[in-house]
Amino acid sequence: MTTPSADTSPTVYPAHYLNGQWVQATSLETLPVHDSSTEALMATVPAGTVAEAEAAVLAARAAFEGWSTLPVETRAAYLDKIAAGVKARTDELAITIAREVGMPLKMARAIQVGGPAWHWGNFAKVARQFEWEKKVGNSVVAREPIGVVGCITPWNFPLSQITLKIAPALVAGCTVVLKPSEIAPVNAMILAEIIHEAGLPPGVFNLVNGLGPVVGEVLATHPEVDMVSFTGSTRAGKRVSELASQTVKRTALELGGKSASVILDDANFEAAVKGTIGACMLNSGQTCSAHTRMLVPASRYDEVRALAQAAIAKFSVGPSLDESSKLGPLVSAAQRDRVLGFIRTGIEEGADVIAGGAEAPAFDKGYFVQPTVLGIQSTDTLAQEEIFGPVLVVITYQDEDEAVAIANNTIYGLGGAVWSGSDEHAVKVARRMRTGQVDINGGMFNANAPFGGYKQSGNGRENGVYGFEEFLEFKAMQFKPAAA
Ligand code: NAD
Repeated sequence: MTTPSADTSPTVYPAHYLNGQWVQATSLETLPVHDSSTEALMATVPAGTVAEAEAAVLAARAAFEGWSTLPVETRAAYLDKIAAGVKARTDELAITIAREVGMPLKMARAIQVGGPAWHWGNFAKVARQFEWEKKVGNSVVAREPIGVVGCITPWNFPLSQITLKIAPALVAGCTVVLKPSEIAPVNAMILAEIIHEAGLPPGVFNLVNGLGPVVGEVLATHPEVDMVSFTGSTRAGKRVSELASQTVKRTALELGGKSASVILDDANFEAAVKGTIGACMLNSGQTCSAHTRMLVPASRYDEVRALAQAAIAKFSVGPSLDESSKLGPLVSAAQRDRVLGFIRTGIEEGADVIAGGAEAPAFDKGYFVQPTVLGIQSTDTLAQEEIFGPVLVVITYQDEDEAVAIANNTIYGLGGAVWSGSDEHAVKVARRMRTGQVDINGGMFNANAPFGGYKQSGNGRENGVYGFEEFLEFKAMQFKPAAA
């Protein structure tokens, strides 16, 4: 199979990956994949059917016993091979994801491909170091793989989201069926080629492309699936959760966010505003944990306004394969229109347009939106809705209690930040925030720390040992004391 580079004609992917081989799709229906900077058709993938999804589940079930009883070292060695395969195809994967999603190429290479390559190797290490059994009184408590895992993933960090599910699941001893996003599936096809080359036994890894309500819902309902690991919108996550409850599957849900960056009065405002804008605009704001609400003392609003304008001026918008672009387009026309709709709603509700706006940047093609900063009230629509675009809202507070109340006043609880002159002061506020992650004074992302949400941002954790343990069961075996 060939994969697209920046200037090839569309690649037609005719098959799903089932039971260790590429199997011709049974339906002629295909799903188009567009280059977000040029709108050109870059590939098509088959729209999987219910029967294909069911076949994948049965293949994964048949492979489970053999795979789960292999020595951990054998499974870990497969992961190391896959890590090497991802590294070897870095350029191709980075170009593919830059085109699919719109992230500028240099960033895509480091974040969208470098990250997953590292995680494949890291999960191998986690499994090797893990304490698989321990004695508790007269019991031995063993950790065992949960079984067949259905993995459903979104488009914004597509290869990372796939990796954070299937790498820990596989090394734990689970077998998997992956349904990647229908909007950015090409990187997943390349990964399937890499996994095939690594020589995993048939049925251990399966990939069926298709739509959520068709293929995704088979994974959520099928009695032979033991767990669904889902990343996506809260809306679809609720549906998956409802369906999965009928067979009492374990669900790990990584859902939406509306994270607050709280700038306290004693913070370095220049660093805090710049840092918040950077954390909001990454991947054109198409990041679940983006810091999309900046909470600032009312008395400092004018200063924040000027700092935000200066910081935004550095975000040059342009095509994702153009070296000079700092901010690429959004993933699709639908996403662009949705984001522009939110900006218009904000303006209609009386927002102060600090930077950007609803006028499209001057490009003939591509799903571009200007980086936008709006000053709004905490009661406005944009204080609640996940926009998923390059839009930051600034909300003022009178005192710290009000800042915490505003930060916690959404259905979400995924990320957040606190900025203060002292880490101790920041931590006091961070502990009051109902959210799974808080960055203190610009603290860097830690790929071994648990990532996941409180409230309607989900109920699972990814990364490192925390993400690995999601795929394990406990088994307690009791022994009679030895006769004296
Ligand atoms: P989405 O919910 O539209 O789609 C995600 C996946 O779910 C896709 O593969 C889709 O086909 C599938 N799906 C849709 N309906 C389904 C159904 N009824 N049954 C089974 N599967 C179904 O989300 P998206 O637009 O691809 O991604 C953006 C969303 O993902 C945002 O809300 C974002 O916050 C969230 N997200 C969360 C995290 C996290 O870790 N918390 C990470 C990235 C993205």
